[in-house]
Amino acid sequence: MLITLGLKGLQMVHHLHHSNHEITFPSEITRRALIKGFGIGVGASLLSSLAIDDSFAATSTLPGFDAFSKSVKTLKSGKYYLVESNGIPSHNMMVGITNWQQQVPTVQPYTGDNAWKIPVKPVISKNPISAKNNLFRGAIALAVNGIPIFNAFNNRGEDSNLIGELDEWGGHCGRADDYHYHVAPLHLQKIVGKKKPIAYALDGFPIFGEVEVDGKAVKGLDEFNGHYDAKKNYHYHGTKTYPYINGGMRGVVAVAEGQISPQPETRPFREAGAPLRGAKIIAFEQSGTASYSLRYKVNELENKIEYSTTLASVEMKFTDSTGAIVQESYQRR
Ligand SMILES: [Zn+2]
Ligand SMILES: [Zn+2]
Repeated sequence: MLITLGLKGLQMVHHLHHSNHEITFPSEITRRALIKGFGIGVGASLLSSLAIDDSFAATSTLPGFDAFSKSVKTLKSGKYYLVESNGIPSHNMMVGITNWQQQVPTVQPYTGDNAWKIPVKPVISKNPISAKNNLFRGAIALAVNGIPIFNAFNNRGEDSNLIGELDEWGGHCGRADDYHYHVAPLHLQKIVGKKKPIAYALDGFPIFGEVEVDGKAVKGLDEFNGHYDAKKNYHYHGTKTYPYINGGMRGVVAVAEGQISPQPETRPFREAGAPLRGAKIIAFEQSGTASYSLRYKVNELENKIEYSTTLASVEMKFTDSTGAIVQESYQRR
């Protein structure tokens, strides 16, 4: 049986959780102004690179990102390091989620004027911002594999990790079907080594793993999971319990409407998914260059989503436990 529903057909009840992930869209004029202003210091190569391009020289001087230079590009420009990625990590995703809003990972345009921006010279703030009561929208850090990290709490004060929202790698997807972590991706430590950060907070201070660069135990963390080293440089650490990542911004950042600015925008291309009670994601596989399949169980009955994603469009095929199929095609703006 093949049923094709319109956009409205799949529309489900709006759910609050992912409203904390909404990212504002600048008006077209603001956007053009941003692109124009940005172009001055950036150079045409970055602005024109809408996709990851191997010819783009990796010029990272930010430790950690170099381990992912095939998929993540960095460039120093003025007071920022610009970091480009497509938002898809090289590790598997989604498996282990038991509290799911029916979103799936798709490629994201974190490139050009929409690249991540990490301050070159982080500055300690006189008024640090706690993530316990702020920063519920957008990312607060960026992992060195190009995946954003969001507040460990959602805007209802729930710990994403403890309520089953995260996969085995500490991530899940937001309303724009954008993959992101909510805890420290400690698994990256094996790849980058303990001497290098696994992430950077958007204030520019590095986030190291569970030990110091010399392998010693971490001591004396403040409420933001950070402290000073012997040279009086500040850094954060990832931990297995709250705050997991930077528990706030010890460094200077600009915040607009609960979100650190600047940061890339993501755009939803379909209606926000509703929480699917009793669902458990049991398998996620890449079936082609840009094609994936996700299998999940609800009350022991297996369902499947197969989809392919580019920056221009997303094709999705939903097969339920009775074999009924629904296909959807989405254009992305
Ligand atoms: Zn999230
Ligand atoms: Zn330390």
